[in-house]
Amino acid sequence: MRIAIAHIGQETCSFTPTRTMIETFRQFGLYTGDEILQKMQGVGPIGGFLAAAAEESLDYTPLPILQAWAGANGTLTAETLLFLEEALVAGLERVLPIDGFFFSLHGAAAAENDPDVEGYLLAAARRVLGAEVPIVAPLDHHANVTQQMIDLLDGLVGHRTQPHLPFETGKLAAHQLFAILRRDIQPTVAWRKIPMLAHQEQFLTSQGPMKEWFDRAREYESQAGVVSVSPFPMQPWLDVPEGGWATVVITDDDQTLAERLADEHARMVWEMRDRFWVYESVPVEEAVRQAAAAQRGLVILSDTGDSVFGGAPGDSTQILRELLRQQVSQSVLLPIVDAEVVEIAIRAGVGSTIQVELGGKLATAFHQPVAVSATVAGIGGGRIEAEVVGMESFNMGRAVLLEVGALKIVVSEHEGIGGNHPIVYRHFGIEPATAKMVVMKTASNFQYYADMASAIIRVNTPGPTMSHLEEFAWQQIPRPIYPLDGAAAYPKVLT
Ligand SMILES: [Zn+2]
Repeated sequence: MRIAIAHIGQETCSFTPTRTMIETFRQFGLYTGDEILQKMQGVGPIGGFLAAAAEESLDYTPLPILQAWAGANGTLTAETLLFLEEALVAGLERVLPIDGFFFSLHGAAAAENDPDVEGYLLAAARRVLGAEVPIVAPLDHHANVTQQMIDLLDGLVGHRTQPHLPFETGKLAAHQLFAILRRDIQPTVAWRKIPMLAHQEQFLTSQGPMKEWFDRAREYESQAGVVSVSPFPMQPWLDVPEGGWATVVITDDDQTLAERLADEHARMVWEMRDRFWVYESVPVEEAVRQAAAAQRGLVILSDTGDSVFGGAPGDSTQILRELLRQQVSQSVLLPIVDAEVVEIAIRAGVGSTIQVELGGKLATAFHQPVAVSATVAGIGGGRIEAEVVGMESFNMGRAVLLEVGALKIVVSEHEGIGGNHPIVYRHFGIEPATAKMVVMKTASNFQYYADMASAIIRVNTPGPTMSHLEEFAWQQIPRPIYPLDGAAAYPKVLT
């Protein structure tokens, strides 16, 4: 049996001004051919695929096509989408004939020339493979599922948890593909689009309404005849014509059951919709005061408006400005993206003092630079080997450690992973567990600090990933959509 393997993933934030380019994919990891099998062994969706095949002792030939991941950031340029399409098409043509295609996708990528990148790439794959070769995709559950994706896929599985487990999702999707190839199941799909959005602060699957909705999917999956049930709470910053939440039910040749469960599951979350609109974030002034007053331990300040895992560029100065204003004297770690300052600091050298305008140069609709006098305390950066969100390494470009009073600031050329993993600081010889506060560029992915953080304070900061979705100038999203529009406008099926 011959199975092609590819992973093309990016999460688009429509409100980020920067563009995602081929170079962005190179920064995060762009591999072809056998290098994919070496790099992705044990990590990410492809690692999951390989593990699932080993578990089943599958007799097959893996045909690695492309591993292209670009994290979360702005809209793809048309040139980038064309590059990905060409690499995919050429790769598939080279390995024909094949029996199946494991095609890992994110599901919430948009390009300048097409708002449905995954539908576009699936159409390109179908032009090479025809209608018969089964294609199964592991997806991020923050995907925006479109009609074209449903029409062109034979099977799919969304992440079961936030924070995500891409390796596990890859395994589930691989087992689904193998079952289809063995003709053990005949996948039968029903899905519902749900006209709602929700901010990021109730997105953890371990608590609240999100847990209830995901738990229900697991209950359905325990029923006879159900292959998979995937809830898709779309990430909240994607302004595209088919945007909105969805649920996708796959049964073994039972359309009636699939339709009934899809209806029930969609209605369930629609009825809970208000409960997703509970905010936990506090104003920046209060957040810094609370953190400074904490008795002991490391306090995480979550910069919700500048989440690099949600697509913001990581150059917000909102919390930095407040830390300086309150003259915080305890040890604080924070990351910021500023290529210009990296260059100045490297030229000046370790031990020198520089006067710079720091940050606020990318998402300029939200942030402004802050003037600081800083000591250059270290030079580093480059590709760092550490598994973070399903990749085996990350690259933040060149980076420097600046000290401004008690603040230790890692300034990098690219966002990389923000400071969302302690290795960003350890790399400069700093142990985050000994700090008082760490600013994180995420509202959900606190897992890498779980063993050292004593408290998490979500900060209500403006930015491309802010929680106050009503403040964005939405242009493409289909209306009506909850909560932007009045209740009377929604379709009957969901009321
Ligand atoms: Zn996600």
